[in-house]
Amino acid sequence: MALEFVFSGKRALVTGSGKGIGRDVARALYSSGAEVVALSRTKSDLNSLQHECPGIQTVECDLSNIQDAIKQIESIGDIHLLVNNAGVGQLEPFLEVTEEAYDRVMNVNLKAVLFTSQTVAKGMVKRGGGGSIVNVSSQASQAALLDHAVYCASKGGLDQLSRVMALELGPHNIRVNCVNPTVVMTDMGRLGWSDPKKAATMLSKIPLGKFAQVEDVVHAVLFLLSDKAAMINGVMLPVDGGFLAC
Ligand code: NAP
Repeated sequence: MALEFVFSGKRALVTGSGKGIGRDVARALYSSGAEVVALSRTKSDLNSLQHECPGIQTVECDLSNIQDAIKQIESIGDIHLLVNNAGVGQLEPFLEVTEEAYDRVMNVNLKAVLFTSQTVAKGMVKRGGGGSIVNVSSQASQAALLDHAVYCASKGGLDQLSRVMALELGPHNIRVNCVNPTVVMTDMGRLGWSDPKKAATMLSKIPLGKFAQVEDVVHAVLFLLSDKAAMINGVMLPVDGGFLAC
């Protein structure tokens, strides 16, 4: 992947960096000179990432256990760039949504983002050097998708949380933005969109006629993290081939 961003001297925390989008965000930041802290749940994923990117710091952490996660994040030290990428989906018709599914999805997609960001932002404010936070949201934050009630609610909440963070952290020169991808064929993407009929219905609503590649999302995240986006704060950037425009 051709990279035009330079993050030398910056320390970046990427959550959910064991697989999928988060893993490639961590790799791209590493290649761009950042000191990367990769936080994820599965140790073998973190070990293989460390093998690929020698010197990367890894943190094995389940963000669903928020009090433990806060302690682990506090111990990481200074962070200049934060990517809240970890997310889970569980698809159920609205009439069958369970409390377990609600808690599982909301705990990772919304609650963990709030408290991870709060913990990291306290350090940024204390040091006074500013920072940049990118939250990986979804087109599902703004469009209703079948069987996605809790997921859509979690990402809608995430967009609105991000706007308030942008409002309150902006005066500290901490920018907060979202990227809102359409379907990406990671493990999570395959969960919802492997059925060719479902995929065709979604593709027919995307003007560019294709799903996003992981690198489409990575480029948007790196741009928003970078100084090239120095005046961009509080935006939800669709990476969706035009889906949300229609
Ligand atoms: P993925 O391939 O399933 O990877 C998710 C990563 O997050 C995994 O490494 C996973 O670790 C980690 N993670 C999940 N729960 C965690 C927890 N409680 N604590 C720590 N780490 C946790 O998903 P993806 O497609 O890359 O998704 C990344 C983000 O993009 C998510 O926020 C998702 O909502 C968003 N998104 C995805 C799509 C899509 O179509 N793929 C579209 C729009 C937005 P384990 O595997 O060890 O659990």
